[in-house]
Amino acid sequence: MQNVSISKGNSKMGRIASVSLPAGITCNPSAPCYKACYARRLAARRQNVRDAYERNWEVYQTHPDIYKLQVKAAAATQRFFRYHVSGDIPDMDYLRMMVEIARELPLTGFMAFTKQYELVNEWIAENGPLPQNLQVLFSVWRNFDCPNPYNLPEAHVAYRDGFHTARSDAYHCHKNCTECCLMGKGCWNLKPGEQVEIDEH
Ligand code: SF4
Repeated sequence: MQNVSISKGNSKMGRIASVSLPAGITCNPSAPCYKACYARRLAARRQNVRDAYERNWEVYQTHPDIYKLQVKAAAATQRFFRYHVSGDIPDMDYLRMMVEIARELPLTGFMAFTKQYELVNEWIAENGPLPQNLQVLFSVWRNFDCPNPYNLPEAHVAYRDGFHTARSDAYHCHKNCTECCLMGKGCWNLKPGEQVEIDEH
């Protein structure tokens, strides 16, 4: 049995732990951002990163109970935990697992960006709101419809060519997640309907 690989942080997130999956195979197949995907390009360059994401995917597919146990154990000691620096919510069972973990660990704040809009909307339609400590942001991409009937917070891109989709009141990302979490700002703290704008990687 392989272990799930948990990242202890990176230069942008600081010491915020995360679990990731391979980009592409776990993403919304309609999403148009595959070519521009920073996570995919990073994994393509770094074998150890690619191996870690693929191992996580393998564990989830073959032993989802073990995947859940290990993610939960890693998150249990954290105040903040991030899903998917790479990859996305692959299916409804995975989203259910994220909800279960959040309910079982009410003192940990979880956060995920997703373009799996329909999956999340369907879950909310059937089950009601997500747990308050599971912050799911709809990740908006230009020319890609983002149905958001439940008014979830949104993450928008400030494109290198100057194009914006965010409203003027969006919070602009300053690339220090630890500071955001400590100061009660940014992604973990957005209210329904609020937006964050993040520079294109
Ligand atoms: S807004 Fe803050 S929490 Fe969100 S990505 Fe930027 S630095 Fe991280």
